[in-house]
Amino acid sequence: MVDDSDKIPYLPERIQGLERLSLNLWWRWNRRARSMLRSIDHVIWSATRHNPVEMLRHVSPGRLAQCASDAEFLALYDRTMAEFDAALARTDTWFSSVYPDAAPNRPVAYFCAEFGLHNSIPIYSGGLGVLAGDHCKAASDLGVPLIGVGLLYSKGYFDQKLNLEGWQESSHEVFNPEIMPLVRVTAPGGELSLASVTTAGRPVHIGAWRLDAGRVSLYLLDTNLKENHEEDRQLTYQLYGGGQEHRLRQEWILGIGGVRVLRALGISPGAWHANEGHASFMLVERLRELMNEGRTLEDAQREVRATSIFTTHTPVPAGHDMFRREDIEAVCASYCTDGPLHRESFFWLGSHPEIDAGRFHMTAAGIRLSGHVNGVSKRHQRVTQELWEPLWPGRDPAHVPIKGITNGVHAASWMSHRYMGLLESLFGSEWENDVLDPSAWDAVLDLDDDTVWQIHQEQKKILLGFCREQARVRWMELWKEAAHLVGAGTLLTREPLTIGFARRFATYKRAGLLFRDEDRLMRLLTDQRRPVQLVFSGKAHPADDDAKRVLQQVWQLTRDSRFAGRIAFVEDYELHVAHRLVQGVDLWLNLPRAPMEASGTSGMKAALNCVPQLSTLDGWWAEGFNGQNGWAIPLSEGTDDEVDQQDHDALFDILEREVVPMYYDRDEENLPRAWIRMMKQALRVGGAHFTTGRMVREYTEKFYMPALKGTLEQDDPPSV
Ligand SMILES: *Cc1c(COP(=O)(O)O)cnc(C)c1O
Repeated sequence: MVDDSDKIPYLPERIQGLERLSLNLWWRWNRRARSMLRSIDHVIWSATRHNPVEMLRHVSPGRLAQCASDAEFLALYDRTMAEFDAALARTDTWFSSVYPDAAPNRPVAYFCAEFGLHNSIPIYSGGLGVLAGDHCKAASDLGVPLIGVGLLYSKGYFDQKLNLEGWQESSHEVFNPEIMPLVRVTAPGGELSLASVTTAGRPVHIGAWRLDAGRVSLYLLDTNLKENHEEDRQLTYQLYGGGQEHRLRQEWILGIGGVRVLRALGISPGAWHANEGHASFMLVERLRELMNEGRTLEDAQREVRATSIFTTHTPVPAGHDMFRREDIEAVCASYCTDGPLHRESFFWLGSHPEIDAGRFHMTAAGIRLSGHVNGVSKRHQRVTQELWEPLWPGRDPAHVPIKGITNGVHAASWMSHRYMGLLESLFGSEWENDVLDPSAWDAVLDLDDDTVWQIHQEQKKILLGFCREQARVRWMELWKEAAHLVGAGTLLTREPLTIGFARRFATYKRAGLLFRDEDRLMRLLTDQRRPVQLVFSGKAHPADDDAKRVLQQVWQLTRDSRFAGRIAFVEDYELHVAHRLVQGVDLWLNLPRAPMEASGTSGMKAALNCVPQLSTLDGWWAEGFNGQNGWAIPLSEGTDDEVDQQDHDALFDILEREVVPMYYDRDEENLPRAWIRMMKQALRVGGAHFTTGRMVREYTEKFYMPALKGTLEQDDPPSV
């Protein structure tokens, strides 16, 4: 069913396995595989931002022949391939040991509008996608039978380029599936169209690509097929491109089309997870399937709920998709006229009793059709219970049946090689799968201070080198004035305390808070004996001009000589840049306006690299901060402006009185002992509680298994 296109035209027989290896993202989180790939040609490896498919297409045949006869390379190659095959075939996984009786061939189907697995596959925009990618990788490690369903945006998300005024322009680089680890999935007769849905009165044919991440396969839907009307071919071109109607049609393809594609491929999931409201139509389609078989609405709803999980990711009301009734009527009209699911029932599924009545709320539909609903941190659980209490009118929010499973990050994907090696010496080579007991992580507190510090210095050096190389490229492409080189971080040096701030430029994330008092900031950064540096990165949503203005302000300050070249902005924040930053800075900064940050995950990535965090007590930090692994800005109250002022003052007090003195307090060996203790605490807490290993185990124990076994007990659907 899968056509194995010949992506890598020439490989010597002896190392033919490289093709298979580079078509599965497993290599991304295996240290040996990465070292082996890098050793083939480290220059092309860097130039392709670690994309093995692209690298192997560019390496000279001479070099490949050399590898094929180099004993040292071959030893590494053979060992990696053996590990790869063993990982895919492994039967002694966490899942199989805890649930030996789980039915085979009944996977969990995980639906999400974006997946961030590798920077070479730009089908994600930010935290949600990266989390979904990490979820899949962890499921693979744990042996949880899971498949992903998403969309293949064949023009990707956008590449950020700032013009000479610091204004963000979006450019779409050519998206070339040839250099991505994607394989076409075809119907038994070889057809590309696997299923179809009707939108806007026309059938839309849907094809799919498979992307493998270890043992987990993702099916990425694509409407760019020649059978389709030109307009429909463009439906899946862009992530979050187009207006509301376009988005509705994309979500229709994902939800309704996703279920139909799985049916066409003969896949029968035992549990269904809608990750965020974009995927809620998947639940509706399954309801309709059951009603087509003759079930009543109540019966079908009960059954769908018994096998469905819904996760909501934002407390920002505007972040919840809702569609106008007219748009749904226009786009998906025939859905309700063709079968037993009546129009009024359909609209009831997405109704909200108080807000924007008459619209279809994707989150409301997710909640009505899922037996398990959760937010993504303990604090976000409470916020979500209050937000959705109207569906259980009159109930005490504490008893609204919405749970909390705190997000995590995939340790082996986010930790630097060097720290992974250090943990291997502590816990053995299988530590990611073996170290399940949180208290085992106490052992990292005994790691040697000097070693921990030296590894971090190496990581910092890599980050600064990366900034310089990025600047070199932009200098050749566009920049004519040297000030731009300063703004890109070429004056950053290794000694100063270096603070990282990288995330989407959404106004609630408050990048501008640092600049409320420019004089105070200037004094902090330019102190002669104890200087501080700031490195920024992040994209604004293409339609969010407010966010673009904040970004432009940051950009202008990076070029302002008052700050002595100690503020840098790294363009095009994506996974590769994120890795460099979370591994290379000394302190991670996060300034969300509470309670807007549902979880936040970049600080967890930093923690796993021994980088402490300074953050508002929101999202994961409300449960992750323990007084020894970083600093917290306490919650404040008042108008937005008052809160901003108080948080600003608290931030600078902490930086001036605690952070800077601790960083620069060195002993006779020039080691900042108290700071290093803080680094190790960051790693301890991050490793013990904030990995996707912990998170996926929790989803499996609490949600997936009851759904797979049909023993989901909770039956407390919304009462309206
Ligand atoms: C981790 C990550 C995010 C999300 O970070 P938050 O702290 O949740 O804002 C966004 N974009 C990229 C590229 C990431 O790696």
